[in-house]
Amino acid sequence: MDYDWNVSLNRAILNNAPKVDKILRENPYINDIARDLRERKLEVLSDIDTYIKRTEESVKKNGGIFHIARDSAEAMNIVREIIGERTKIVLSKSNVLYEIKLREELSKEGMDVWETDLGEYLVQINNDMPSHLVAPAVHLSKKRISEILNENLDSTINEYTSTEEMVKKVRDFLITKYLSAEVGITGANAVSADTGSILLIENEGNIRMDTVLPSTHIAITGIDKIVPTLKDAFNEVIVQAANAGFYPPTYVNLTSGPSATGDIELQKVTPATGPKEFHVILIDNGRREAMNSDLKESLLCIRCGRCYFSCPAYRLYGKEFGTSPYTGPTGIMWSAIVYKQYDKSEMCMHSGGCSVVCPMQIPIPKIIEKIKFKYTG
Ligand code: SF4
Repeated sequence: MDYDWNVSLNRAILNNAPKVDKILRENPYINDIARDLRERKLEVLSDIDTYIKRTEESVKKNGGIFHIARDSAEAMNIVREIIGERTKIVLSKSNVLYEIKLREELSKEGMDVWETDLGEYLVQINNDMPSHLVAPAVHLSKKRISEILNENLDSTINEYTSTEEMVKKVRDFLITKYLSAEVGITGANAVSADTGSILLIENEGNIRMDTVLPSTHIAITGIDKIVPTLKDAFNEVIVQAANAGFYPPTYVNLTSGPSATGDIELQKVTPATGPKEFHVILIDNGRREAMNSDLKESLLCIRCGRCYFSCPAYRLYGKEFGTSPYTGPTGIMWSAIVYKQYDKSEMCMHSGGCSVVCPMQIPIPKIIEKIKFKYTG
């Protein structure tokens, strides 16, 4: 690993780990919620068809359009059909969008596609891949970021430009993309089967723009993101935010359908100010197979990213430990689920720190051990 990596990762660990510990010490109820959430998610994994059906009915009841995709190719075809002739697309941070290579595919087809999360935007203009689930650009030092922005956005930026100024320049650029976007594509942190709602957690405000300014919002996520109720979905975002070190989160976005108003004689009319179309695409891509295997508990992952910072292999190998965007301890499990890639498990040192900090109590080293056996036969 290069010098940049060691500097930026150490800074990230020092910024993150004590913050997460403090949040959990001051809000002990979050660990209780996490234990309950684990049970609720296990319920879904044991009866996935019922929960997919329930989610479909709820999305349709709200005026949304529901899709199910077996793999990346099917998901991409659904997206292409929804987009039609439109070309201006904004994206929010999502591992599933990388999983199906959405930006790459749409860009190849000549569309104007922009990541709107700051870290993802840096990854995009650097022709790079994310190195961490929550902090995709954690492998880039501030100095390197100033060089990337200088080459791609504004030649007045240099290593002495303040972080605030760099963020402002990116914000000024991205606002022009939001205002002209025709379609906003997001992932989802959780999908509630009982109400057909998706929840998205963020701090920057870009997801709020992506989900409201374009006339069509498409949410693409895995079937593992279904939870039984809206209460469970809120619990998931609380646990995720706390374990990611951002508590309380600045924004929690809830979407349950296209925009609507009932202001004239309480008759519900759609659309109102926001999008007129809301699509939910749930993708399988190996998840269902994993539910019936030694990989089952990997599907409980809520993508908080906490396990990365307790992992000696991730410190040593960075984003080579896994297949981006699925890197780090959870990424070894998810690379096996989604890409059927097992060889990176050989890099695991089985320190066990990952499972100690995991809020979903996923026995990560044991699962990686099974993956190793699968690889070595
Ligand atoms: S495996 Fe656990 S600690 Fe790692 S990202 Fe998933 S939920 Fe968080």
